[in-house]
Amino acid sequence: MNKSFLDRFGNDIGIDLGTANTLVYLGGKGIVINEPSVVAVNTKTGSVVAVGKLAKDMLGKTPAHIKAVRPVLDGVISDFEVTAEMLNYHIKKANSISSKMLGPRVVVGVPSEITEVELKAVNDAAIFAGARKVFIVEEPMAAAIGLGLPINESKGNMVCDIGGGTTDIAVIALFGVVYSKSIKIAGDTLSNDIINYLKQNNKLIIGERTAEEVKIVVGNVMPEGKLSMNVRGRDMLTGLPKEITISDKDIASAIETSVLKIVDAVREVIQKTPPEILSDVMQSGLYLTGGGAYLRNLNKYIQDELKIPVIVPEDPLSQVAKGCGKILEDIEFYSEVLK
Ligand code: ADP
Ligand code: MG
Repeated sequence: MNKSFLDRFGNDIGIDLGTANTLVYLGGKGIVINEPSVVAVNTKTGSVVAVGKLAKDMLGKTPAHIKAVRPVLDGVISDFEVTAEMLNYHIKKANSISSKMLGPRVVVGVPSEITEVELKAVNDAAIFAGARKVFIVEEPMAAAIGLGLPINESKGNMVCDIGGGTTDIAVIALFGVVYSKSIKIAGDTLSNDIINYLKQNNKLIIGERTAEEVKIVVGNVMPEGKLSMNVRGRDMLTGLPKEITISDKDIASAIETSVLKIVDAVREVIQKTPPEILSDVMQSGLYLTGGGAYLRNLNKYIQDELKIPVIVPEDPLSQVAKGCGKILEDIEFYSEVLK
């Protein structure tokens, strides 16, 4: 069987298997699926009740026998079976969009410090889900490709991807990662910081989803006190409902420590980057991707602190998936970046 035959009858699917969101890129169509990486499982029967947004809506609200899980939490595959089910669901759905007969070739973007065991888990999950062939790429590399950076040239490119569970920073040149760092401080940490802050300072208990909403609505790294919102939760002392108003200044103090840790990780990567490559990066800039790139003024703050231009591209959330898709369009050209 020659390649063009397979290409005609099989799909190419790029998957950004994120800790917070799973995006699927379908060859020739672009991003066709964008859903939270959440699966609701019936613990009595072991069957999957819901995947994606439906399952996320159940987080913190499920009856006793239904559990909503985030199988890719912390950037590792913490629950192989559930991850496999989730991949299966998305691959089947993507495959049904374009009615080809063969199993798809799949490129999956994974966090950069993934272990061999986790790598195998991703591979097996995709095969289990019907993939004909599986290729794996590190997320920051996929993001750089999605952004259209010249990763094939000797010029240095720098990307910082702030997802839910991990922040991945990498300097890339000549199809390779020159230096990288991955820390488990990212969007989820900031949301948890907000939960803890409101507990300590306002005696208010809120859930994960409310905390995320607060972060998105009033999160700001350089606050001026102009943004505010009402937050409803439970009074820690009375156990009764309570509503308070908080400002971007409150939230900035809540997330300050974690933001500084992210900035420090970027600083470390810059400090370890060879001078010639650093000089390229000073020209081309640091690209922020992932949902965390949306955090207000984070780009400005990093730029001021680290003396390097910081760019937030349009649609930072979809660059990894886009990169996985671009790899599939020219597997040979990108073969060196695949694991
Ligand atoms: P992953 O790749 O791990 O799935 P994503 O790149 O999808 O993660 O980013 C998800 C994270 O981005 C979540 O923690 C989410 O709360 C955060 N996020 C999304 N939008 C915003 C926003 N406007 N401001 C701050 N954080 C955001
Ligand atoms: Mg990601």
